[in-house]
Amino acid sequence: MRIAVIGAGIVGVSSAYELAEDGHEVTVFERHSSVAGEASFANGGVIAPGHVAPWAAPGMPSRLLRDCFGKDPLMRVRPTLDVARWRWLWRWWRASRAAAYQQHRGELLRLTQYSRDRLRDLSTRLKFEFERTQGLLVLLRTDQDVAAAQSALALLRELGTPFREVDRAACHALEPGMNRDQALAGGIHFAQAEAGNCRQFAHLLREAAERLNVEFHFGTVVKAISPGEGGQGPRVQVEQMALTTGFVSSRAGPNNAPATQTTAHRARAAARYLDPVSQEHFDAVVIAAGADAGDLLAPLGLRLPIQPLYGYSLTAPLRSPERGPKAALIDERHQVTFSRLGQRVRVAGGAELGGSLERHRRGGVEALYRRLDDWFPGAAHIAKPQVWKGARPMLPDGPPLVGPAPQAGVWLNLGHGHAGWALACGSARLLADLIGGRKPAFDPAALDVGRYRAASRG
Ligand SMILES: Cc1cc2nc3c(=O)[nH]c(=O)nc-3n(C[C@H](O)[C@H](O)[C@H](O)COP(=O)(O)OP(=O)(O)OC[C@H]3O[C@@H](n4cnc5c(N)ncnc54)[C@H](O)[C@@H]3O)c2cc1C
Repeated sequence: MRIAVIGAGIVGVSSAYELAEDGHEVTVFERHSSVAGEASFANGGVIAPGHVAPWAAPGMPSRLLRDCFGKDPLMRVRPTLDVARWRWLWRWWRASRAAAYQQHRGELLRLTQYSRDRLRDLSTRLKFEFERTQGLLVLLRTDQDVAAAQSALALLRELGTPFREVDRAACHALEPGMNRDQALAGGIHFAQAEAGNCRQFAHLLREAAERLNVEFHFGTVVKAISPGEGGQGPRVQVEQMALTTGFVSSRAGPNNAPATQTTAHRARAAARYLDPVSQEHFDAVVIAAGADAGDLLAPLGLRLPIQPLYGYSLTAPLRSPERGPKAALIDERHQVTFSRLGQRVRVAGGAELGGSLERHRRGGVEALYRRLDDWFPGAAHIAKPQVWKGARPMLPDGPPLVGPAPQAGVWLNLGHGHAGWALACGSARLLADLIGGRKPAFDPAALDVGRYRAASRG
């Protein structure tokens, strides 16, 4: 089949790779000049099946209300007249009830485990070398935090997820660079979890996809998708913004891409640049457009409750290799992650509903510096860090949508929220199996758009 993938974040690149591996002819459209230019750029990097839980959790709505009135600078909901956001919040509140939460957590766990295994398999098979570490330590500051974690641990036991409760001394043994003066009651250690550089992985996977003849069209905005007609599949209308280096070099590098194909690809690139607006039919179209996926689907009659939930990261070089974290950590109270990326440390967190990608809120970024100072004071050169803001593509309830859209030939791989890196490889493999008519590794019914169709009709 000829398949278009819209979006070259970690989800789009993974989808393109898996589809190409199955023998499809794949074209990726991306408005940025390379892969992983948005939410997949500098995320926390954590891949932890045991710790991936819906944001819609019991107690979260009241916590959000409390924190919005100034207690925690990392949490903000901007007041709005936007009906879509209120609807989203209503659905989120309903999904945070205990029974729904447990169900969604179980579904996320299954997908994250599958995804982590797929990522490991791909990395080994394709000999990928990227910044990654093994293990995750969840830090619990007080006895109250330890007590509050117990219900989540009971659920993990029920779901058969391996973890180890550790005391303060064991936490320091696992992370010798951690501040001994910081209050710490204990922790939870997930030995099977890992952290890795999502952006690096996406670049490696892009190269692997190009070796399978995937065409990447960078600097290209998809303006509209129209349903198929007259025996043809859906039509994709694009506007070429610029003839970027990435665009031209796509497919040109690898030796196994025949010269004629490379030339043809370049010719098509140049033609599109001269005639920027063009349209093309495909047998299938995969929407992997992150937080903006809703804009492409609404004109097709599918109104999905997807909202950007903004967060920040700062990445700074370590003063010496033995300082800073050895692996990944999460400050559970503040929901801030620390990950070791080569000789750098990345601190990520924050949850802002409303606002924009461009406007950095000072309080949000400063709070990350404070958390770094709590746990690893003086460990990093913080004079010139990379400060980044990203938009998590959030559905109100938790699990992403992976599978067919109601419109023939349109497929969804979106709404991966705060765990898109952890979920990408598995979601992509599931989607490729569904498109190819093969039995997926597990029943993906929970990821079907059916759960939102009532909303799109309403
Ligand atoms: C602060 C922060 C920390 C995080 N930490 C973690 C973590 O530790 N672990 C984890 O698993 N996840 C984490 N996440 C979440 C993770 O980063 C996202 O879930 C994931 O990157 C989403 O990937 P995506 O491919 O769906 O979206 P994106 O990476 O945003 O990709 C979507 C792409 O579609 C393109 N696009 C959209 N519309 C169009 C159009 N019309 N035409 C052309 N191109 C288009 C965009 O340019 C973009 O490149 C974090 C996120 C944030 C913000």
